[in-house]
Amino acid sequence: MKIGNTIQEVRENVKAWRTEGLTVGFVPTMGYLHEGHQSLMNRAAKENDRVVVSIFINPLQFGKKEDLETYPRDLEKDIIVCASAGTNLIFHPTAEEMYGEDFCSFVDMNGLTDTLCGKSRPGHFRGVCTVVMKLFNIVKPDRAYFGQKDAQQVAIIKRMVRDLNLDLEVIACGTIREADGLAKSSRNIYLNHEERKASAILKEALGVAEKKLAAGIRASVEIQRSIREKIASEAAVRLDYAEIVDLETLLPVNRVEAPALVAAAVYVGKTRLIDNFIYEI
Ligand code: AMP
Repeated sequence: MKIGNTIQEVRENVKAWRTEGLTVGFVPTMGYLHEGHQSLMNRAAKENDRVVVSIFINPLQFGKKEDLETYPRDLEKDIIVCASAGTNLIFHPTAEEMYGEDFCSFVDMNGLTDTLCGKSRPGHFRGVCTVVMKLFNIVKPDRAYFGQKDAQQVAIIKRMVRDLNLDLEVIACGTIREADGLAKSSRNIYLNHEERKASAILKEALGVAEKKLAAGIRASVEIQRSIREKIASEAAVRLDYAEIVDLETLLPVNRVEAPALVAAAVYVGKTRLIDNFIYEI
């Protein structure tokens, strides 16, 4: 496994693979890797001849009051995780390598980026789209792997690929969870003991919604209310949103008739956690 810090190194490696006729899978990450990231790498290794993982904490996707400075980092452990999951090349650039002083081009989107997490994190998805577009242009993968945990990100990247005619396939992979249901996340490290215990309520609340849907309830307001009530039963957790939206457009649906995304975000102390499930009839 190689580790490259420059765009040129990645280009040279991928070019050599291409001349051999090999396919390339790509997993973009911000590091502090866990089993969720690992599942993406394993899938990429299964479906491609070579796997590139990027580890880059993208300043562009953090709001001014967000955790760019404190975002957890552990490159040594990340290298071990990547090596054990069949990665061939880690791309670990500096912010300077990715964004020159005079950087002024961005990828933005209407609509999809303004709802759900985009509401509480203005500018976040503009940062995500821009960095992912750059990474796609650097790595030029056949397939790119994203976690369904970040469902809005998946919908946005799929739309960007479609709208801008990028020649690659976006593959969404299922959410990997802790034993109590909490979706694994690099940010879970921020939670103290009490907060960590309280966090389980997010998945439980989505479980209540799943049960309502299974029982035939179709009105979004009722399902949303059940999520809200369950979250409210845990004093340490504050709801940001609980929404039911179309999987592709991310527009709210009144009745859950087609495949729909049921998504929620909460604050536990200062930590923001998200989770979701896709309801398919
Ligand atoms: P991040 O490092 O948080 O930017 O995440 C990098 C990729 O890993 C994204 O596509 C995430 O959706 C995905 N990911 C993060 N957590 C999980 C998880 N618990 N299960 C599956 N994929 C995940």
